[in-house]
Amino acid sequence: MSVLIYAENAGGKFKKSIFEAISYARAIADQNNTSLTAVSIGNVDAAELALLGKYGADKVLNVSGDKLKDFVNQAYASIIAEAAKKEGSAVVVLSNTFSGRGLAPRVGVKLEAGVADGVVALPVQEGGSFKVKKTAFSGKAFAIVELTSAIKVIALVPNSYKVVETGGTAQVEDFSVESKASDFKAMIKEIVRSSDKVSLPDAEIVVSGGRGLKGPENWGMIEELASLLGAATACSKPVSDAGWRPHSEHVGQTGIAVSPNLYIAVGISGAIQHLAGVSSSKVIVVINKDPEAPFFKVADYGIVGDAFEVLPKLIAAVKEY
Ligand code: FAD
Repeated sequence: MSVLIYAENAGGKFKKSIFEAISYARAIADQNNTSLTAVSIGNVDAAELALLGKYGADKVLNVSGDKLKDFVNQAYASIIAEAAKKEGSAVVVLSNTFSGRGLAPRVGVKLEAGVADGVVALPVQEGGSFKVKKTAFSGKAFAIVELTSAIKVIALVPNSYKVVETGGTAQVEDFSVESKASDFKAMIKEIVRSSDKVSLPDAEIVVSGGRGLKGPENWGMIEELASLLGAATACSKPVSDAGWRPHSEHVGQTGIAVSPNLYIAVGISGAIQHLAGVSSSKVIVVINKDPEAPFFKVADYGIVGDAFEVLPKLIAAVKEY
């Protein structure tokens, strides 16, 4: 058996979450004394493809072409499945991104594989089966699921596995798959917002504001703290519903699920629907003037205080540091 990783790119570049997924797939390959192949789809240049070897791939299957420049769920799933068949892969790893979550079940059907998405740790292997820890109930809980099928498809949550640079070199091979017209029936064109801000789903630190901040005019404090920490900004649902912040920043059950190393929640009550999107964060810091706010129950560190007094002090302290 070999291990296959789908190396998703955004505009020809690989994100950090892909290097995490490669490191994770490399660890599974090493546990089984086998090789790791990465499959890249779209137009990615040679320098970028070389990074896949640097982080642990032995071989890269490069599928290029203008038709595949933008993400097409069915066509990409067919390519990944064909790549897995070509390599005799028993494990296929994807990143649990928006596209990864869409691809995992489709690849699973094509390979008659067991599928686990939202995975946060390396599998425990017993005989031919994998026991994997994954998020459940919109991130409110973790579940251990057992994959007993011959082929396993795993989607790894960003920020849940460390990146390990192996410094290797991968052999790059062009690969093509005869696509069916039906594979291109539904196409989503990615809309890219040009911004130099840290992308929320990939962020290692997130500074998030809620209704306690009273209005959009007060978001300067959130943005300043985020910029000092190299963090992404986020918000609760009512904040984006009110138009104080863009919907792309809304986290929670009905918004984006994040799993940063540090989540700082300012003036957010901690409703269950909000927690659903942030509970896999490694460290949660809550700033709220109400000591009974539910968010304190899941916080690692809490400051009971008025955001308008605490944030300026925190910003000054970070600047001094
Ligand atoms: P509030 O509940 O109004 O809380 C404001 C907090 O700020 C309070 O705890 C208050 O003590 C504190 N505060 C006030 N002033 C200050 C101050 N000066 N300094 C410090 N603290 C202060 N919500 C989401 O966020 N994401 C979702 O995905 C989501 N999905 C939902 C789906 C459904 C089906 C439903 C029914 C609801 C959903 N909600 C979601 C809404 C959710 O239930 C809450 O209403 C929402 O999260 C509350 O937002 P908030 O904490 O910003 O506001």
